[in-house]
Amino acid sequence: MKFLLFQVTLFCSLVALNANPIEVEQEYGDKFQGDIVLTPEQEVETTHVGRVGRTGTINTNVRWPKINGRVTVPYVIDSVYSSSEKNLIYNAMNEISSKTCVSFVPRSSQNDYIRFFSGDGCWSYIGRIGGKQDLSLKRSGCMVHGIAMHEIIHALGYGHMHQHYQRDSKVRINYGNIQSGLEVWFQTLDPASWNNYGTSYDVSSVMHYGPYSFSRNGQMTIQAYSSADQRVMGQRSYLSSGDVARIKNMYAC
Ligand SMILES: [Zn+2]
Repeated sequence: MKFLLFQVTLFCSLVALNANPIEVEQEYGDKFQGDIVLTPEQEVETTHVGRVGRTGTINTNVRWPKINGRVTVPYVIDSVYSSSEKNLIYNAMNEISSKTCVSFVPRSSQNDYIRFFSGDGCWSYIGRIGGKQDLSLKRSGCMVHGIAMHEIIHALGYGHMHQHYQRDSKVRINYGNIQSGLEVWFQTLDPASWNNYGTSYDVSSVMHYGPYSFSRNGQMTIQAYSSADQRVMGQRSYLSSGDVARIKNMYAC
């Protein structure tokens, strides 16, 4: 299916290992680029054509529809979650919807919708893939406000900030500290397919990897050149102003 070419699955395994989500975030999983799973079509695209611009994909086919000026994303939440866990998901959706033109609505009969469920880690597709699309927030490890927003933003169509092709003036990738074989998850994306929606590189983005993501030795895998950037890198507490601007620009609202 041609329209599936750019539909990318993200496996966003962002586990808060202690109470400070800014300092500690570990992404894990065996998926493409750390938390990305490709559909068969996308694997072909990636393997034979080159890397697809996932971070801020330019493919408008994966956008959610705009109805009466509001982007409308239907969802269902699996019954396995407790009421407090459901509230965490609601709060994540509310922070996004209150600051953008994106509305999340309980699914009635819509064909395309997100299903929040407790799967293996924290992960999401990028953009609307058509039909039911799973978004995993594992009950143990993923129930963090910013992790839920991070996965939802993937489902809206945005990838990972640290793969910005201009990131090297802001952060240094310590390849020697990355778990063997996972270096690809730290590669920048092709500028031809990159779109950061009119915003600059944003270390404080909720879509940025943390400094210790996929470390093999407890040392930093991503290091900011400024201490202020270092402090906010990997935060999973709030939408940065850039996060808000990117969503609004992506959906022209
Ligand atoms: Zn992610």
